[in-house]
Amino acid sequence: MLGPVLLAAARSDSIRRLVSAAPVTRPMVDRFVAGEQLDQCLASVATLAERGMQVTIDHLGEDITDRSEALRNRDAYLALTDALAGAGLAEHAEMSVKLSAFGQALPGGHDLAAENVLPVVEAATAAGTTVTLDMEDHTTVDSTLAILGQLRERFPGTGAVLQSYLFRTEEDCHALAGEGSRVRLVKGAYNEPAEVAYQDKREVDRAYVRCLKILMAGNGYPMVGSHDPRMVAIAQNLAERYGRKRDEYEFQMLYGIRGAEQERLVAQGHRMRIYVPYGTDWYGYFMRRLAERPANLAFFLRSLITR
Ligand code: FAD
Repeated sequence: MLGPVLLAAARSDSIRRLVSAAPVTRPMVDRFVAGEQLDQCLASVATLAERGMQVTIDHLGEDITDRSEALRNRDAYLALTDALAGAGLAEHAEMSVKLSAFGQALPGGHDLAAENVLPVVEAATAAGTTVTLDMEDHTTVDSTLAILGQLRERFPGTGAVLQSYLFRTEEDCHALAGEGSRVRLVKGAYNEPAEVAYQDKREVDRAYVRCLKILMAGNGYPMVGSHDPRMVAIAQNLAERYGRKRDEYEFQMLYGIRGAEQERLVAQGHRMRIYVPYGTDWYGYFMRRLAERPANLAFFLRSLITR
């Protein structure tokens, strides 16, 4: 029950101010976010690379209210691309972008986001890396997939994210399971209505498995974005069943979540990519992480009370 409340709070400015100002928030945020500054993020990326992991970096910035912020976010990604190339990290790192950070939710947002994300994808390609478009709430899926389609005409390595909790996703998996198509499959992190999404966790899990089968059986490059040991085991079985080699799919997990499992999969020779968020606009991302796991919230509330 608490999940939807937290996800609603993720959109509230007054709760944002309260949570951001609480001194106990910082250590919890540090668990999930690799710093507010680019150099802190790069230090984390270098450490993960030493441990044999790839990364996908998210410059946090989804809650924007005007076009100048969209341009600032675009410029932050351009600076990130330069920094990755300069530090020799481009082969270990790709970038995840939320189109809302590029203006998708503003008036005329579809075209604005398409225009703003293009130079980032161009720069990433020139630096030898790729971009994956994160998926946000269900109202954005058509726009995001349309922008993905445009980008992939020139930059076929651009990745997509599909969320198994949405009824439409099996069909989207079929559409995106073709040659060279990079698709990260996740369960979904937003508060979605019953008209468009499964509400029961078991239904979401079953849909995840159906989607995994479609992607693993296809000709694309499945990216298994889950910390769920059952989904990881099923992905391994399916990869074997469909004769996929270790470099024909990958696992992805979030920074700060199930580190031992991340190490275990690397030790088994799997490709593991960590989603590394950084930046000052961490509130929405942080609240979604609290909503995913009641124990995170309980810990956070306990620290508030016992101070
Ligand atoms: P769950 O059943 O939720 O969790 C399985 C187990 O993982 C839990 O029992 C727990 O041990 C651990 N775990 C899961 N979440 C947490 C947490 N927050 N804190 C501590 N432990 C936890 N969602 C989107 O909607 N759009 C995206 O673009 C997107 N990108 C993602 C990228 C990556 C690389 C990953 C891994 C996830 C992404 N997500 C995205 C989030 C995803 O939709 C889920 O909300 C999240 O991964 C939790 O689902 P799960 O598959 O890990 O399974």
